Amino acid sequence: MRVLYGGTFDPVHQGHMAIARAVAEALDCQVNLLPSADPPHRVPPGANAEQRATMLSLAVGIEPSLTVDRRELDRDGPSYTVDTLEAVRAELGPKAPVVWVLGIDSLLQLDSWRDWRRIFGLAHVLAVERPGTSIEQDWLRSRTPVVEAELAPRWSRPGELRESACGSYAPLSMRPLRDESATEVRRRIGAGLPWETMVAPSVARYIRDRGLYRTGPGP
Ligand code: ATP
Repeated sequence: MRVLYGGTFDPVHQGHMAIARAVAEALDCQVNLLPSADPPHRVPPGANAEQRATMLSLAVGIEPSLTVDRRELDRDGPSYTVDTLEAVRAELGPKAPVVWVLGIDSLLQLDSWRDWRRIFGLAHVLAVERPGTSIEQDWLRSRTPVVEAELAPRWSRPGELRESACGSYAPLSMRPLRDESATEVRRRIGAGLPWETMVAPSVARYIRDRGLYRTGPGP
């Protein structure tokens, strides 16, 4: 089974790490954290892709259940999840279970992702609870009926995802909920407020040594 947790990770914070560990435990397998590439023709708002990937590697360290997948950095052009999953599927063949992990706040926007319905033909989707969100189906329907309608027949439990290659949706409840966000880390650094405990000590050192995010919170 291949589990991919994609994000900007600008920077990776302790909330991301807690999620990755919770997913590794719930699915009993390794989780691959997958940083997105820099958007083309635009100066990245905070750290660049290479720096974001380095911070991820520092945060993951030698934890056996976590690893960093740099494939989106090595590809030319924009990194769409559906393209990444196609490459993973081509690598693993049709039978291997593949899981795409995201926060429920991201799930709410799933219908804005390129070819979003095709994702279910390539992978399962597992969404993790975030403060201000809920794993309940009714809540999801009230926020995004289009996404909920696509998920409704796919609903399953995290532990069941390894029984098939793709096509299911599983919500994962998090306790305690993690309220860190990368926006808040950047905002605090820009405003000269305490931020170090929101990231791993090795990541805090890297940010400090390079003076990252000092110019403000970014967009
Ligand atoms: P930003 O504040 O800039 O939006 P972020 O903290 O959400 O950044 P991303 O790299 O965009 O960080 O997050 C990657 C994935 O992790 C997204 O799917 C997001 O929903 C999820 N995620 C991030 N932080 C949390 C959290 N505290 N709890 C649950 N999910 C989270």
